[in-house]
Amino acid sequence: MKPPPFAYECPTEVADAVALLAAHGADARPLAGGQSLVPLLNFRLARPAVLVDLNRIAALGRIAVEDGTLSIGAMARQAAVEADSAVARCWPLLTEAIGHIAHPQIRNRGTIGGSLAHNDPAAELPAVMLALDAEMSAEGPQGTRTVPAGEFFAGTMETALEPDELLTEIRVPALQEGNGWSFLEAARRQGDFALVAVAVLLRPSGGADGIDARVVVTGTGEGPMRMCETEAILAARGTDGDACEAAGDAAAQASEPADDPHAPAWYRRKLVAALTRRACREAATRMGR
Ligand SMILES: Cc1cc2nc3c(=O)[nH]c(=O)nc-3n(C[C@H](O)[C@H](O)[C@H](O)COP(=O)(O)OP(=O)(O)OC[C@H]3O[C@@H](n4cnc5c(N)ncnc54)[C@H](O)[C@@H]3O)c2cc1C
Repeated sequence: MKPPPFAYECPTEVADAVALLAAHGADARPLAGGQSLVPLLNFRLARPAVLVDLNRIAALGRIAVEDGTLSIGAMARQAAVEADSAVARCWPLLTEAIGHIAHPQIRNRGTIGGSLAHNDPAAELPAVMLALDAEMSAEGPQGTRTVPAGEFFAGTMETALEPDELLTEIRVPALQEGNGWSFLEAARRQGDFALVAVAVLLRPSGGADGIDARVVVTGTGEGPMRMCETEAILAARGTDGDACEAAGDAAAQASEPADDPHAPAWYRRKLVAALTRRACREAATRMGR
């Protein structure tokens, strides 16, 4: 299939891109790596009158660590973030999760911002950004606003972005020493979207054995889901004995998968339990517990 006809704009500044989106409203769509949008165009599931290509906006490709916070420009390629040594050292959860996205060729073109703005319900990056408490910068005709990850992902392929807003930057806060992390995924084939993926981040908190836990599951509903009951179990009981088992069971109970052609709901729920249990154990081991 070929895409329907569209006008093509190629700004070099964020302000010009925002002005184009404001001028054309819902008829315009930003084009990032094109790895999700171009198939949608080719299948004629999207028919924007204007494509605003972001690939010449150099300022959006930045990856930097400032005062311990990781700043990722929306157009930073997934492969560039995956290969960044500072990211691997300080935010290994992100590095590990990117390795599960599709194949290297797709990660060479696909961007961090494109994946977050697209918000596929089985995508890895939204889950990781939720686990890491990231913040998104959205720039529109009214100026720039900051949206926490917990408010950014609004449902299947929906986000808090307005049609005339660009996602420009993602900021990931510093992680303290001694945390533990794990990202585990089950997919039908290497490189496929997740049937289920689980991101776990454990941080020391309070007393000697205290834990602050973040557990996010994706692939079972409308997007990334924080597993609050699972987090409460880990905070109350730590990771010893059968706590990880109970954490996995709680996640399975809280998840809401539906039957679909890729897997029945019961199977996805079993995956949630097993992957959550293993991810909690792996994170605890990395934490030295
Ligand atoms: C074969 C294949 C397998 C894949 N497997 C996976 C996988 O396992 N896991 C996974 O997560 N992804 C997977 N993907 C998708 C891939 O990660 C895409 O790169 C990603 O979803 C979109 O990023 P992009 O830069 O290509 O964005 P595009 O396709 O260019 O854009 C996607 C959407 O986001 C909007 N958008 C892009 N940038 C911005 C911005 N800065 N501000 C506002 N809106 C914006 C666009 O208008 C469009 O609606 C796969 C893709 C392919 C082709």
